[in-house]
Parts: sequence; structure tokens; C-alpha cells
Amino acid sequence: MILREMMPYRALNEKTLIAYLRGRPAVAARFPRGADLTVKEVGDGNLNLVFIVANRDEPGQAVIAKQALNYLRVAGESWPLTRERMRFESQAMQAYNRLCPGLVPEIYDYDEEMSLMVMEYLGKHEIMRKALVERRRFPKFVDHISTFLVNSLFYTSDFYLPGVQKKEMQARFINPHLNKLQEDFVYTNPYITSQENRWNPLMDAEVQAIRADAGVKAEIAQMKAAYMTHAEALIHADLHTGSIMLNETDTRVIDPEFCYFGPMAYDVGAVLQNLVLNCLSHFGHTADRAQREEYQEYVLGLVRGIWNEFARKLDGVWKENPRGDLMPPRYWESNGGTEAFAAFRRTTLARLLQETAGHGGVKFLRRMMGIVNVWDITSIPSMEKRAVAEKAALRIGVRWLMDRNRVTSVEDLIRVVKEEIAGISV
Ligand code: ADP
Ligand code: MG
Repeated sequence: MILREMMPYRALNEKTLIAYLRGRPAVAARFPRGADLTVKEVGDGNLNLVFIVANRDEPGQAVIAKQALNYLRVAGESWPLTRERMRFESQAMQAYNRLCPGLVPEIYDYDEEMSLMVMEYLGKHEIMRKALVERRRFPKFVDHISTFLVNSLFYTSDFYLPGVQKKEMQARFINPHLNKLQEDFVYTNPYITSQENRWNPLMDAEVQAIRADAGVKAEIAQMKAAYMTHAEALIHADLHTGSIMLNETDTRVIDPEFCYFGPMAYDVGAVLQNLVLNCLSHFGHTADRAQREEYQEYVLGLVRGIWNEFARKLDGVWKENPRGDLMPPRYWESNGGTEAFAAFRRTTLARLLQETAGHGGVKFLRRMMGIVNVWDITSIPSMEKRAVAEKAALRIGVRWLMDRNRVTSVEDLIRVVKEEIAGISV
């Protein structure tokens, strides 16, 4: 036992994983004694190894093992990246299981030395990105994701936590190396010459124009400042539709390795922006115009619903639980406090919507111009049709970013999308 605990880190494979898991009591307990286990590597992600481990006699009985490598998988061994990211992912998952139970996979085991986490296998769920390209509908999604956002953000913020507790929690989520990746790949490199950037050559002129736009450059720097310094709450920081697994009745958020204490609106913006990108991708995926417009309207309805439910639920839990040091109940109890508290909540929500537009806007640009493109768009076979969706994404991104301080309702964000797709014919 002691020997095993002192085993140094090694990357596991389909052969070595089973012996390793047999030595992990929390995992062994998930299977009948002596079960014949099968292993399959399924990681389609950019960063880590992901294995499904199943009972051969009862394939529904399964767990997921996720292990961090010493390098960035998408870039190869030449790009080192600290394995400590699995600690952050497991810590966030523990916090989410407490704050948003049922909206993340259950966590069964975490091995710090091996940078390996074992979790619930979501065999009845699928990655949202794929399902949206197939024009599927998820009647519970708005309710589930707005609850995830409110619970994960509010209960880790200064609105709810005492100042000392919040900062102690924040200290456990100082995630500098993954922060640095996002700082570079979201806010810096796409807008300068950097070898990993890739974009559709059919929109070279649009990409160059954005790079040469002084106003856009200045506003991207503003959003980067918020990303780097605005430690508002525990954020997932990679909450795109590839980090959401769902079906008609159930929704789970996965893959929070980029988590840290950052701006709340970054997560909200990621969800809304990915939905809009999916909406645009149907210019390439859905040839029938009536069918396309109907589904695009559905997706924009999700955007509207998520923001409105987020705002409503956040205001509700905050009003009921003004426990944090920003501000404690006794501050709001006297001398016009009720009015002042309502005004503070109102202006905070108005600010969060504008920041959602800003972070979401930058994300449109980085997805079109930077290292990591999105499958909704790249899976469009025709480069011409792709360019239609991509150019619209750039125009929407610039307007969300540049006009964010005039945004007062989610309808303003949706209107920009509608105006930018109004004239498109494919
Ligand atoms: P990475 O950090 O490398 O991006 P992800 O956490 O996104 O890895 O996982 C990669 C893929 O593995 C997901 O897209 C999904 O297909 C699958 N996967 C991850 N976690 C689970 C899970 N709990 N249940 C089922 N499949 C999962
Ligand atoms: Mg990941």
C-alpha cells in the first residue's frame, strides 16, 4: 500500500489503467468484486486523457477516468503544461457538487500524485455542441444552466461569502498557468501575428481589418484587464457547449480545469456566445430555409431565456441571502437600506449584462481568428458557407464588444444577431 502511494506520476494507458484502479478502493467499490473491466480512451478534448472503464458483463456500469498529461495534448509534447490543472478541476467539481448538485458528474476519486480523477460516466448524455448541430431541443436546459450559473457564481462571491472565507477559497483556486493560456489565446494572440492562429482564408480581409482597428484593440485590452484582475467569483472559465453534456431531462457541466476566481460574466458570456455561434453555423448545416430560421429562432430563444432566468434567479437568491461582506444585512437594514439594496442589485445585474456582451464579444473573435476553432463551424464542408457564418460572427463579436456599455437588455444582444444575419442568403 505504502509503495503504491509513493509511486511517481506516470501517464496511464488502456492496459495499465485497470491495475491502477484496482488499487483505488473508492473506484473498486463501484464494481462487483472480480468484475472484468474494459477500458477505452475516448478523449476528444484538447488537453487530457479520458478513459471509459466499464464492466464487460454490464456495460452500463462504468466510470470515467481523466488524467492530465505534462503537456498540452492539442499541441504535442513540445508544449509543456502543469498537471496541477487536475487539482483545480477536482476542487471545482467538489464545489459544484455541493453548490449545484445534479448539474455536474459525481466525483468518486482524485489522486493528486497521478493527476487523475474518477467520475460518474454520463452514458445517457451527449455533448451539447453536436446535438445543437443536429437541431435537437432541450426543454430543461434554460432552467438547468441558469441554476448552474447562479449557484456556482453567487455562492462563491462576496455577495454571499464572508470576506475572509471568500479569499481563503480564492487562494485554493489560484490557477496561474491555465490563466496564462487563456490570457494569451483569448485576449492577445488572435489579434497579433502568432503562428498558431488560423482562420478561413476567405475572410482574410475582415481578420486584418479587426487587427488594425484601434478602437477594438483598446476594448479588448479592457476585457483582458477584467479577466486578469476582477476576482468576483469561482468561474468555470471554459463553459462552451463542448463542456456541457445533456439529454432532454438532465444537464451536466464538465471540464472546469480553467477555473479560478474571475469575472462572473465570463461564464455567462461563454454560454450565450456559443449558442449564437451554433445559430450561425446553421447557414452551413441546414439547407432548408424555413427549417433553418425556425431553429435559429429557437437557439436565440435559449439566449434570451438563459439571461432572463439568470438575472431573475440571481436577484432572488441574493435578496434572500444577503450574507456576504458585500454587504452584510445590517448595512441594508437601516436608513433607506431596502431601496439601496434593490438599487445595488439592479446596477450589478446591468453591469453583468454589459460585461457578458464584452466577454462574449471577444470570444466570437478569438474563435474565428485564434488557435481553437469550434466544431459547429469547422464541420461545415463548404468554405464559402463557413465564411458566411464566420463573417457574421466577427461582425456580431465586434458590436457586442464595442456597444456593450449601451446594452440594457438581452434583447439588445439578440437584435445585433438578427440585424447581422438579416441579409444573408445561402
Ligand atoms: P479535455 O479537458 O481534454 O478537453 P473533457 O473533460 O472535455 O476533456 O472530456 C473529453 C471528452 O470525454 C468529452 O468531450 C466527452 O466526450 C468525454 N467525457 C468527459 N467526461 C465524461 C463523463 N463524465 N461521462 C461521459 N463522457 C465524458
Ligand atoms: Mg479541458
